Amino acid sequence: MSSESVFEPCEEQKRLVPDISGNALNGLGEEARRRPTPIYWHSPRKLAHGKLQKWMLERTSRLVPETADLKASLDGRGPEERAAKASAPADGTPTEWTAKAKEFALANESDLVGVARMDPTWVFDGYDADYPWMIVLGLEMDHAELATAPEPPSVIEVMRQYNRGTRAARALTDWVLSQGYDALAHGGPQAGPVVMIPAALACGFGELGKHGSIINRTYGSSFRLACVLTDMPLVADQADIFGADDFCQNCQLCTKACPPDAIFREKQTVRGEKKWYVDFDKCVPYFNETHGCGICIAVCPWSRPGIAPNLAEKMSRRQRS
Ligand code: SF4
Ligand code: SF4
Repeated sequence: MSSESVFEPCEEQKRLVPDISGNALNGLGEEARRRPTPIYWHSPRKLAHGKLQKWMLERTSRLVPETADLKASLDGRGPEERAAKASAPADGTPTEWTAKAKEFALANESDLVGVARMDPTWVFDGYDADYPWMIVLGLEMDHAELATAPEPPSVIEVMRQYNRGTRAARALTDWVLSQGYDALAHGGPQAGPVVMIPAALACGFGELGKHGSIINRTYGSSFRLACVLTDMPLVADQADIFGADDFCQNCQLCTKACPPDAIFREKQTVRGEKKWYVDFDKCVPYFNETHGCGICIAVCPWSRPGIAPNLAEKMSRRQRS
């Protein structure tokens, strides 16, 4: 990453920037593993960057009214009340429940589904998530809408897919409850108790790209996440490594396209893990002024419709040879 940012935030935002760096809160440069600190998309009262987040959400609601009341717009988020839990758990093996849960998810709006065993280091500091399993859901975005980023049609599509993810998670949760197991639904854009990207990586959604989002072998980075936490007995999926990480080593499309030059060109150590990382302090001001930006995932070659499957096959062959 070059030392000079080419984007200058507006004065209104500059006045709201806290003294502490978001990268420090995220654990950039920390060697020890630890739980993530809530930094954005939580209650603003809990966040050092809460005033910035509030400013962004109010501005986006005003300038892109479709996003203002998510419950009532963009096809809604499904009923808020959950179904009653059956009085006793139904019989079934973990393999059977995993197959049934996936079948239900794919028949009820999800495009991707995977199962991850809960890892305590995925739970945000200050939150509890006392469930042994995460069912992770993926919702494809319309790439033509995403490609308008950072213009409003992109954020409208993002919100539409977060709504679809929330509906899918709530429907799956109701089904799990009806089988006599506990479940908790979560859909974005607000964060839940658990970071979803590490769980999605663990359960086979793909590899982390240089732009900080997942690259999937079917949808590239053109999808959003939702999840269900549950105690239904399940079987964990495996990670899917097909060469996206290798591809990123030699590609700079997202780094060159990012207006505030926020994407590191080399992997960074973050809370004990070496990985691709986006500079929070550089990304967020531009993200805020453009209703969620999204340029980096839009320009990623894997995101273009029809590209990812062939590219994944080619990279897999190269890895095997
Ligand atoms: S969301 Fe926008 S500002 Fe943030 S890293 Fe991606 S391209 Fe850069
Ligand atoms: S644009 Fe290139 S470098 Fe960036 S995430 Fe996509 S493949 Fe990786």
